[in-house]
Amino acid sequence: MFVDIAKIKIKAGDGGDGVVSFHREKYVAAGGPDGGDGGKGGNIIFVVDDNLATLADFRYKRKYTAENGKNGDKGKRNGKKADDLIIKVPRGTIIKEVESGTVMADMSDNDSFIAAKGGRGGWGNNHFATATRQAPRFAKNGTPGEEWEISLELKLLADVGLLGFPNVGKSTLISVISQAKPIIANYHFTTLTPVLGVVSMGEGNSFVMADIPGLIEGASEGIGLGHEFLRHIERCRMLVHIVDVAGSEGRNPIDDFNAINAELERFNPELAHRPQIVVANKVDLATQEQLDSFEQYIKDKGYEYFTVIAPIAQGTKELVNAMWGKLQTLPPIKRYEREEIPLEVLEQKQDDKFTITINDGVYFVEAKWLIKILHKIDYDDYESLQYLQRVLQTSGIFDALVEKGIQEGDTVSIYDIEFDYVP
Ligand code: GDP
Ligand code: MG
Repeated sequence: MFVDIAKIKIKAGDGGDGVVSFHREKYVAAGGPDGGDGGKGGNIIFVVDDNLATLADFRYKRKYTAENGKNGDKGKRNGKKADDLIIKVPRGTIIKEVESGTVMADMSDNDSFIAAKGGRGGWGNNHFATATRQAPRFAKNGTPGEEWEISLELKLLADVGLLGFPNVGKSTLISVISQAKPIIANYHFTTLTPVLGVVSMGEGNSFVMADIPGLIEGASEGIGLGHEFLRHIERCRMLVHIVDVAGSEGRNPIDDFNAINAELERFNPELAHRPQIVVANKVDLATQEQLDSFEQYIKDKGYEYFTVIAPIAQGTKELVNAMWGKLQTLPPIKRYEREEIPLEVLEQKQDDKFTITINDGVYFVEAKWLIKILHKIDYDDYESLQYLQRVLQTSGIFDALVEKGIQEGDTVSIYDIEFDYVP
């Protein structure tokens, strides 16, 4: 079973809590605060692994959680930082935030991607000692790790995508022009996972061709095999459309050709207008009349046209040269740009609760949903701070603080930030 799309949940580790502790020693009357800081929670990091060809690993395991940081300890001992959780994906995997469909990363190059940041450790009470507050009886909790629901979608990185009905000779063609050795057999759906073949042009030049599983009519509506495979050729720079010109399985080659293009159009019209070279295969089995009428039809439509006998590599050299020539005129393989997750998506979490605790005159506000918003705030930017102000207002946090008796000049502490309350 070929799996090329998956939806999973990821949760980075929470930061460990800081602790409240005071130095104790025999004969020492009032020891100072010595509570250590919590350790950082583990990140969730995606990396590309070229040994993977599918997203099958994500079929059964749907939730990935990184370890939490350890709490601090007395004697100013800081809690241990948690290890990151590394998740391997095949090259070409697109990572999206599910709710908004925002592209978080395109795992096509060798960069790793931190998809969920671990929470920071909270400070122990020894951090809070000041001239006027020599014995702080509070410490901070660690911040929660980021949590996301994401989708993984594999979109192969190939210059050329091979298209065609089952059994028309796609696997045979890729096996004679590249190093790829797919299974070739005289029955439908032999190719169950995409095959990438490197076509060498000499002098260090090469391009990559993808043989995707056979398309059948209705594929774009999810009938039978096919629909899910069309996404693989979405970023191919050009398409090579192979047709069994002899109609050796009883179909008409012109009908085949139109059926597949109609599928492309239905799935993604942009794909239907991608540069396309048409290849008539099984020439050895075709009559002159079949060859002439198909050639006429394709050329009238303005496509570049080639005839081959794939198993004996007849005509394939000309075809390969034409592909190479065409590629020189085309833009590089598409990369999906990283997008910003809209703040509205983050704000929707506002229905969730928050807690306020008061300790030594400091108002501690905690709310899981706030974490993602805080990550987005640029503390040097006025508008960004205005935005935070608005969030605290509309979420009812300010009202709750007033209800708890906050006065002008009291300290508000929200995870990493601290500010003086101004009504
Ligand atoms: P795919 O399903 O499109 O990948 O098709 P395959 O490459 O697996 O080929 C299907 C069958 O057609 C195999 O038995 C091949 O040997 C045969 N075949 C492929 N190309 C030709 C050709 O040009 N002439 C003839 N006579 N048979 C071919
Ligand atoms: Mg095949």
